[in-house]
Amino acid sequence: MQIKDNCVVAMHYTLTNDQGEVLDSSEGREALKFLQGAHNIIIGLEKALDGKKIGDSFEVTVEPEEAYGVRHEEMIQKVPKSAFQGVDKLEVGMSFQAETEQGPVPVKITEVVDDVVTVDGNHELAGERLTFKVNIEDVREATQEEMEHKHAH
Ligand code: ZN
Repeated sequence: MQIKDNCVVAMHYTLTNDQGEVLDSSEGREALKFLQGAHNIIIGLEKALDGKKIGDSFEVTVEPEEAYGVRHEEMIQKVPKSAFQGVDKLEVGMSFQAETEQGPVPVKITEVVDDVVTVDGNHELAGERLTFKVNIEDVREATQEEMEHKHAH
C-alpha cells in the first residue's frame, strides 16, 4: 500500500541540519506514527512521503519555507529585566510565554546583558534546511476516529 492522505504511517527517521548535526532521531525508540495529510509533520516531509511504501528508505532535504518557516527578525526583541517579575535568575535558554496581541507566544532568552534581556520568538528550527533520512515501517488506512481526530492512535 502506498502512502496517501488519510493513511497512518509509522517511520523511523533521523533529522540533521545543514552542518550535519543530528537534531532528532527515532533510533532506539518506537517508530513515529502520524496521520498523512493532516499536517502532523512538516509539509515538506509530508510531500516527500506521498507515494512511498513499506520498506522504502530515502533521504529528503526540506527548505525552511516547507519546514519550520524562515526567521523573522521582528520576533527578536529586547526587553527590560523588570518585565520578568517573580523570576529569580534570568538565563540564556530559558523559555517563557509572552503575551502578545495574537495570544501567548513561546519565547526563549538568547542574551542577557546588564538589565536588557533579548528574547526570540522564532521556532528553534526556523530558517534551517533540514534533512530527513527515513525508513517506512508501516502504512495502513486510518480509522474513521483517527480521521476525525486528525492524528494517529
Ligand atoms: Zn484521538
